[in-house]
Amino acid sequence: MSESVSGGCLCGSVRYELSSVPESTYLCHCRNCQKAHSAPYAALSILPPENVTITQGEVARYERTSDGGNTTYRDFCSNCGTQLFSGSLVFSQIMSVKVITFDNPNLVNPSQHVWVESKVDWVCMNDQLPQNQTQQSSEEFSRELDEDR
Ligand SMILES: [Zn+2]
Ligand SMILES: [Zn+2]
Repeated sequence: MSESVSGGCLCGSVRYELSSVPESTYLCHCRNCQKAHSAPYAALSILPPENVTITQGEVARYERTSDGGNTTYRDFCSNCGTQLFSGSLVFSQIMSVKVITFDNPNLVNPSQHVWVESKVDWVCMNDQLPQNQTQQSSEEFSRELDEDR
């Protein structure tokens, strides 16, 4: 797992590197991911922030605070709008990186679907992966997803 991973936004302004291939990846059908990505769901890899280095450019940040007081952030390229990172200020020991922005998105395999309760009807899931109606059971993953659809 020592292989590094490189990625970046659509326009090339922002480039990043991960110190290793993320071990946890899931497909999120929450309303926030749907809207933020303008897509039916998002592929997210989870890793500690210290494993992520922005090697070129800088990201802009959108923050949103839920009724429960949890503030989540979404980092994106201010030039082309590509969503790159997200996480929670409360659970700051982990963050997520958008798999599709990897130079090679096939480096990881998703292990489950989360927030299936808000899945779009015409998305057909025949991949045999576990489907969680809300967030992943493991509490380490609960931060980004825990509230604010
Ligand atoms: Zn860009
Ligand atoms: Zn989500």
